[in-house]
Amino acid sequence: MALPAGLSRKLGKLLGPQWVDKDPADLLVYQSDGLTLHAATPDVVVYPETTEQCARIIKTCASYGAPFVARGAGTGLSGGAISDGGVIIQLSRMNRVLQIDHRNRFAIVQPGVVNNYLNLQVRPFGLEFAPDPSSQAACTIGGNVAENAGGPHTLKYGVTSNHILGQTVVFPDGSIEQLGGTFPLAAGPDFSAFLVGTEGTIAITTEVIVRLTPLAPSVKTMLATFPTVAGATESVSAILSAGVLPAALELIDNLCIQAVEAHLKAGFPTEAAAILLIELDGEESEIANESAPVEKACRQNGATDFRVAQGEDERQQLWRGRKHAVGSLGKLSPAFYTNDGVVPRSKLTTILSEIYRIGSKHSLRVANVCHAGDGSMHPLVLFDPTTADGAARAMECSEEILLACLEIGGSITGEHGVGVEKRHMMNRMFSARDLEHMARLRTAFNPHDLLNPGKVLPGGATRGEVKAGVSIPGGSWI
Ligand SMILES: Cc1cc2nc3c(=O)[nH]c(=O)nc-3n(C[C@H](O)[C@H](O)[C@H](O)COP(=O)(O)OP(=O)(O)OC[C@H]3O[C@@H](n4cnc5c(N)ncnc54)[C@H](O)[C@@H]3O)c2cc1C
Repeated sequence: MALPAGLSRKLGKLLGPQWVDKDPADLLVYQSDGLTLHAATPDVVVYPETTEQCARIIKTCASYGAPFVARGAGTGLSGGAISDGGVIIQLSRMNRVLQIDHRNRFAIVQPGVVNNYLNLQVRPFGLEFAPDPSSQAACTIGGNVAENAGGPHTLKYGVTSNHILGQTVVFPDGSIEQLGGTFPLAAGPDFSAFLVGTEGTIAITTEVIVRLTPLAPSVKTMLATFPTVAGATESVSAILSAGVLPAALELIDNLCIQAVEAHLKAGFPTEAAAILLIELDGEESEIANESAPVEKACRQNGATDFRVAQGEDERQQLWRGRKHAVGSLGKLSPAFYTNDGVVPRSKLTTILSEIYRIGSKHSLRVANVCHAGDGSMHPLVLFDPTTADGAARAMECSEEILLACLEIGGSITGEHGVGVEKRHMMNRMFSARDLEHMARLRTAFNPHDLLNPGKVLPGGATRGEVKAGVSIPGGSWI
């Protein structure tokens, strides 16, 4: 759909022409997000600085019938922040921490604040924003809210929804609402919580009140080495069954270890079939009590080595390896497809052996990095993008993996969202009735489907199919 005549001029009047970008070379930057298999080009990108400007942009777009999409850092991995034509509302200028109230443990931030930056600001008060996606050096709080982001430490501390007290939002008719507040115990339904995880399809968040969590007084990070993947996955259940709740319990398999060691030498054992990175935090006495059962659970399941990080440098080195694991895959393959699925953690052994089976059936290598304590997996399917069907085969393989997750009671996504990538699979997970309820909710707030159209729900009113490197089959429920 071509941009309606006069719209970009009007947006220029609202913001100043320097904050309205139609240069085709610049628009290339917005063609995709972290998921490179889907691409779509917007007509124009605008850069507001305030909630009021966002509201005026949205009212203007609505009056022209033009679609609009919010964008944070574009690290999303399901194509949620791309737009086929229309207007991208890029929130990177809204990047201020507006208030830190350390006594009442909250901060008020604009949506474009980068997750790590917020943590740097609140750390001197002995506090943190607990959700720690591996992309935290780049991703924004607005994006975290929209995707209900998780991360290694959400095993103990919960996902983003557990850490949001309130939001200021702009609805698709341009109305501004303040939802929630600075303390958690308020009357009435929690509308702010309802919006978390709606992937920017119901409202645009322009301010966030985040809950801050005290930093743990002590931390101990351990690395257990396993000669079999099953030894590592069985240890996960054994540790939790022993009554220990680690702050993080991450699994990295051999292929991923090879990539990390080739890239940045984190000190991971390259001979291991899998490793567990286990972090305990709390009072020193508490950690001392929990360490022995953790080591015992690992040894009983065949761990050949159990190492405790000696000092902060070694600890940071291990975490650097984990947080850069996905990016390191570039050392092994010119392209890879990052997947995201969840299973009950008692089924980790089953799903990992199923993943390897599916990978070899498709003659593709699959590396795995998992928030194992949560049963949340990221199978990384390596493929050759220069062959005609390379990407399509990787997608096919990934889809089969997700169906295997569903078969054992899991989910097609844990933290990366549905976006455009998985919307055709929604009817494999939800009934037509479930989806109809979701669509009704969306329509109540977004009646003309102008805000982030064509995302999350299968089929339906998509404003032009997203131009994909791989075709996305439409759903059939509508
Ligand atoms: C290497 C790598 C590692 C990752 N690791 C993790 C991980 O451990 N855990 C995890 O959960 N995710 C992870 N991700 C995915 C991604 O970083 C998160 O989903 C993150 O929350 C997206 O933030 P963003 O600012 O980049 O959002 P974007 O990609 O810009 O947008 C994502 C979605 O949010 C919407 N949106 C953005 N801002 C707003 C707003 N203010 N109001 C309304 N809607 C908005 C967009 O429209 C889009 O639908 C990873 C990604 C990469 C590339």
